[in-house]
Amino acid sequence: TSFGFTKVAEGRKQALVDDVFHKVAERYDLMNDMMSGGFHRVWKDAMVSFLAPPKSAVSGWRLLDVAGGTGDIATRVVERSGKAVKATVCDINESMLQVGRDRAEKAGLSDLITFSQGNAEELPFADKSFDAYTIAFGIRNVPDIPKALREARRVLKRGGRFLCLEFSDVDVPVLDKVYDAFSFNAIPKMGQWVTGDGDPYQYLVESIRKFPNQERFADMIREAGFERVGFRNYSGGIAALHHGWKF
Ligand code: SAM
Repeated sequence: TSFGFTKVAEGRKQALVDDVFHKVAERYDLMNDMMSGGFHRVWKDAMVSFLAPPKSAVSGWRLLDVAGGTGDIATRVVERSGKAVKATVCDINESMLQVGRDRAEKAGLSDLITFSQGNAEELPFADKSFDAYTIAFGIRNVPDIPKALREARRVLKRGGRFLCLEFSDVDVPVLDKVYDAFSFNAIPKMGQWVTGDGDPYQYLVESIRKFPNQERFADMIREAGFERVGFRNYSGGIAALHHGWKF
């Protein structure tokens, strides 16, 4: 498009991202399903299985889901635990949080999921407050990723786990070409069609392109001080789950 997102200065990035999610909040869940062909559900379920939250009331076990948007990960973790654990969804965007609050209310989970506004780069929580930190399709939107990773480590308890689900580099021949064609053409068009504005989606597609590959991102997580860092690819690397521990 003529929008020139690639030339956007880093300092303006957060404002653009905020604008994107204010615009799409109401239709975010629908767009997710359309653009990933429902696959985001499979990847999120796999992430939550990998986390394996405790299924009996371990006193005070707490999840922090950052860039948690409408609460997809928090909801899954609380349900998977048989409502044994509590979760906090933190997102910079009030519009996304409000959709999440309404959803949690309808699902009868308001007592177990707290929604609080905050920036991944400066989390409004005390040191060592959480047993697990998750971030799904959020970290690539954050302007200063190393800072966000250090914050993740700060708010985790010792023995706490870090899990990050993000679009990544496709490592399967042919699939990579098909995926590129799909994302660069179809995604902005779908965005245009559903929300009346394709430019925000153009930005999202470009942000996926620019995000470091699996190995480089694993290095960044290690640099933030996490240990036993690894990753697994989903759907040939369209998405990857990175994980690490705070000891
Ligand atoms: N985790 C949810 C999911 O998987 O459905 C939402 C992901 S959505 C693609 C990205 C979210 O990141 C948006 O809700 C956006 O408001 C949030 N976000 C962007 N920049 C942020 C920041 N600096 N701190 C916290 N959240 C941020």
